[in-house]
Amino acid sequence: ASLQKDDDKGDIHSFKGHDMLAPFTAGWHSTDLHPLVIEKSEGSYVYDTNGKKYLDSLAGLWCTALGGSEPRLVAAATKQLNTLPFYHSFWNRTTKPSLDLAKELLDMFTASKMARVFFTNSGSEANDSQVKLVWYYNNALGRPDKKKFIARAKSYHGSTLISASLSGLPALHQKFDLPAPFVLHTDCPHYWRFHLPGETEEEFSTRLANNLENLIIKEGPETIAAFIAEPVMGAGGVIPPPATYFEKIQAVVKKYDILFIADEVICAFGRIGTMFGCDKYGIKPDLVSLAKALSSAYMPIGAILISPEIHDVIHSQSNKLGSFSHGFTYSGHPVSCAVALETLKIYKERNILEQVNKIAPKFQDGLKAFSNSPIIGEIRGTGLILGTEFTDNKSPNDPFPPEWGVGAYFGAQCEKHGMLVRVAGDSIMMSPPFIITPEEVDELIDIYGKALKETE
Ligand code: PLP
Repeated sequence: ASLQKDDDKGDIHSFKGHDMLAPFTAGWHSTDLHPLVIEKSEGSYVYDTNGKKYLDSLAGLWCTALGGSEPRLVAAATKQLNTLPFYHSFWNRTTKPSLDLAKELLDMFTASKMARVFFTNSGSEANDSQVKLVWYYNNALGRPDKKKFIARAKSYHGSTLISASLSGLPALHQKFDLPAPFVLHTDCPHYWRFHLPGETEEEFSTRLANNLENLIIKEGPETIAAFIAEPVMGAGGVIPPPATYFEKIQAVVKKYDILFIADEVICAFGRIGTMFGCDKYGIKPDLVSLAKALSSAYMPIGAILISPEIHDVIHSQSNKLGSFSHGFTYSGHPVSCAVALETLKIYKERNILEQVNKIAPKFQDGLKAFSNSPIIGEIRGTGLILGTEFTDNKSPNDPFPPEWGVGAYFGAQCEKHGMLVRVAGDSIMMSPPFIITPEEVDELIDIYGKALKETE
């Protein structure tokens, strides 16, 4: 019954009778939310079932870093499918691609020393696994009360029970009886929105670090296991950290023997101009979550990187506690690992960092030039990630009435002109493929400008 046309106009927006309850929808029965059915991709573009071409300014969901038609990734998947489509990596069995990928990731990550890689199928599973790993670690150390997690308002860490709990977006909690009681949320580090009159970025960061310390003291440091943060917040509206933020936050976390988990699901592999977000902000994490650009999204895969200290405890205590009994059938799926290995090889061979850093100023400066629009509150971003927030009077305190749907209107104008953007309320987000060309950035800016004029 799905995708039957309800008229003969051939309009992609006129399909009805869908069988799917799509993520983050209430279904498509309402007249204002029809699916756009994407059929084909080519470089930085995707095409719908009517053949209309769109510049994919979000790279799928912040993930198709090498664009939509990289033949080497198809070849890597095909070769692996022809050789060994599946074998698991449980107990003492594994496959060559998963071993090779683990080694490669440990070699690549240099912000702090990492000793082991645990594979998952997604970013949500990676963050879920982090919580279980940290709990196991503290149980192994005989600290059964050190179990709470601190995350930040407006963060996004996934949508499973635990990763949605860690996330700081109310929509992920409402009607789901979340967050789970072991999760606490501290301030969102959004300077423009939350700084006090006259407060500098550095002072703002100091205040947030003090608030974090006060929260830890109030709860009891012996109850706090870990702090989790995205280097640049993504789904919360693209929020790069204010100056000195991570330096000050890390000092607090360290003081109370709290583990630092870097959620690099969006930032890693070049998105913000460094191989990992941790490299850009001097973060020295104990644990790291990866997904998305790890395989350029051609196959689902996530991973967590584990410090030697944590791994040593787990390894040495397993006689007492039993093994770390956690994993997924598809942890280390050989096809996903083969595709990820090829993705990382391409990043190196094509010097993807240099490519991102070359194109990023054109992307950032070109879009930030629209900052003086009367309906834009703030445009912010770094590398190949950028967010726009529409507000009245250029003030974070003057949102447009939600029923005006300013963000949605802007998104619809972009779509009309052949570009897909991410809309969340009056926030617009973009994170184009790393391979976007200068001409495509010109087109992106041109469409953004047209849509903005029509929205003003
Ligand atoms: N962490 C971050 C920072 C993310 O942006 C996302 C997804 O957007 C996730 C975790 C969840 O990843 P997944 O959707 O693969 O479960």
